[in-house]
Amino acid sequence: MSKRSLFALCVLFAIVVCSAGLALVHVRASARSADSPGYWGFDTANLDKTCKPCDDFFQFAMGGWMKNNPIPPEYSTWGSFTVLADKNQQALRQILEAAEKSQRPASSNERKVGDFYASCMDTASIETAGTKPIDAALQRIAETKNARELLALAAQLQRQGVGVMFRFTSNQDAKDSTQVIAMALQGGLGLPERDYYLRDDDKSKKLRDDYTKHVAKMFELLGDSSNKAETEGMTVLNLETSLAKASMSNVDLRDPDKTYHKMKLAEVQSLTPDLSWDSYLKTAGQAGVAEMNIAQPEFFKALDAQLTSTPLDDWKTYFRWHVLEADAPALPEKFVNEDFEFRGRIVTGAKQIQPRWKRCVQATDRNRCVQATDRNLGEALGQVYVQKYFPPEAKAHALEMVHNLIAALRDDLKTLPWVGPETRAQASAKLEAFTVKIGYPDKWRDYSALNVDRSSYLQNLQRGAEFDFQRRLNNIGKPVDRTEWGMTPPTVNAYNSSSMNEIVFPAGIIQPPFYDPKVDDAVNYGGMGAVIGHEITHGFDDHGSKFDGRGNLKNWWSADDLKNFKERARCVSDQFDGYVVDGDLHENGKLVLGESIADLGGLTISYAAYEKSLQGKPRPPDKDGFTPEQQFFPGWAQVWGANERLEFARLMANTNPHPLPRFRGNGPLSNMAQYARAFGCKQGDAMVREKVCKIW
Ligand SMILES: [Zn+2]
Repeated sequence: MSKRSLFALCVLFAIVVCSAGLALVHVRASARSADSPGYWGFDTANLDKTCKPCDDFFQFAMGGWMKNNPIPPEYSTWGSFTVLADKNQQALRQILEAAEKSQRPASSNERKVGDFYASCMDTASIETAGTKPIDAALQRIAETKNARELLALAAQLQRQGVGVMFRFTSNQDAKDSTQVIAMALQGGLGLPERDYYLRDDDKSKKLRDDYTKHVAKMFELLGDSSNKAETEGMTVLNLETSLAKASMSNVDLRDPDKTYHKMKLAEVQSLTPDLSWDSYLKTAGQAGVAEMNIAQPEFFKALDAQLTSTPLDDWKTYFRWHVLEADAPALPEKFVNEDFEFRGRIVTGAKQIQPRWKRCVQATDRNRCVQATDRNLGEALGQVYVQKYFPPEAKAHALEMVHNLIAALRDDLKTLPWVGPETRAQASAKLEAFTVKIGYPDKWRDYSALNVDRSSYLQNLQRGAEFDFQRRLNNIGKPVDRTEWGMTPPTVNAYNSSSMNEIVFPAGIIQPPFYDPKVDDAVNYGGMGAVIGHEITHGFDDHGSKFDGRGNLKNWWSADDLKNFKERARCVSDQFDGYVVDGDLHENGKLVLGESIADLGGLTISYAAYEKSLQGKPRPPDKDGFTPEQQFFPGWAQVWGANERLEFARLMANTNPHPLPRFRGNGPLSNMAQYARAFGCKQGDAMVREKVCKIW
């Protein structure tokens, strides 16, 4: 979610709710094989020939696919990312089912992933245990006597993956990227984002009402009377609304200048006199922390005031709720189903819950709502995955493509008319300093401190959370480990980290339809090439451009060039403000700006790289009536082919820095003269914008 940008990590695509968003069943019927007729990396069955490329390219290129691939009931969106993630899941399932039978020692990674998966699949034991696995946490909450104890309890619960009050972790120091410092961030909400508590339209009010009822139902399932549960639902909503009011907006969260407030511990304590940081830090095992980045000081000031103004019993209700919410997937079926009813059905529009094995595969890979990080056993599982499914040739091919893309941006920077010599030199230096990571980490995570057994799924989840919490906190005060990865190898995604100045492509995405070594270059450049270009361009979007080549938050722009850049960026944000999602809900141009700049720049440099690759070679043949230049663009469209449920589309537009796939499919093309030329589109056509945006 948008929190990710605080960690200076820009991903390609965000699946908003992992528990219900990912997984499936029908894999496409049409075979993608190099020898089937008409196949050149783009399946002509995807086309909707009733639509003209100059009217709506996305519909033209993918309308057939979208018509023939309705969303399976257990999904809220169904497209290239989900189809591929689903395929990866089937592969992971085979690995896990073999690991379940492993006779290796309990300390081996193979046994750990097998035991973790087995404990998740063991529904008989989970039903027998009932709510006993959360008794200890509920007991601790009941025994809490004052605000100081509440803070210590918050630290204990956060360690185990329960998101109460705020978040505490470590991160690179944005202004000294060689060092890791402690970081405290706003948090503690049960709805997807701040504005869900504050908006006044009917749909938002209804969703809050549904949330309150859901909280009450979960309390009833726990054994509270319906009257008491109803009051508890209101208490949770009221308390979270106060936290939401003090929270930073998702647009501001993307601005690294607004979220950098490094303070000495004494300053933090005087900012928040009633938050007992000594008690918190001691329980978190971080008594020695001397300074930290308080990402949102206003939030912490408000939390501090609320700590004493809200009755302790209300806090206890709120804590109980978050234990229930976090642990629901590991409780008996009635809790799992009620959790799905709200988080899956109401929030994302999914019609039914995924089969258990899919939820268990995902849980073994990573925690359900920490998508970009590796909270459970992702690298242990990923190690086997890449041995089986990621040949060295794929890595070599992808690396070659990355170098071609970097070369294209290098050329572009030399000739870009709107930047002056100083800024140009700085931008070039930053580009040359990029680190590229492909496939999987060179150094695998060491899981020897993580115990896993088959006795309790919830305990495995808690230990996984504690292991990851501790791993992050252990880095505080130390130099940055540049070998770490922010995604697990099977993940169908990619990212750019501004603080690391690196671009990262997990093995999971280096596959068809993003990349296929057997198909025409044009399609690969339009797909994986543009994805690579997207990640490179993130280093120069409205967020990434604030970091220098060493990964430090430091302005390297001349005043004139920066003004010029902001004007050009404004063109893109205005463009996306204009896209209508549903009724009066539009894309939020400022929220999706970084991603939209990255798409536009990524396609532009990938197209240039493709053209360069043709130089000095015989011209490739037309395919199915597509010229070589035209073949580039369906490669892009098929990355974004997707159907979404309305609930999911609204959730994306309200919370996510990524525009909806349909706008990513068309938006950048309508700014590109290269596209208009390839398809003969003219001024006045919908795919040719009157005011063209161009940055990189
Ligand atoms: Zn991105």
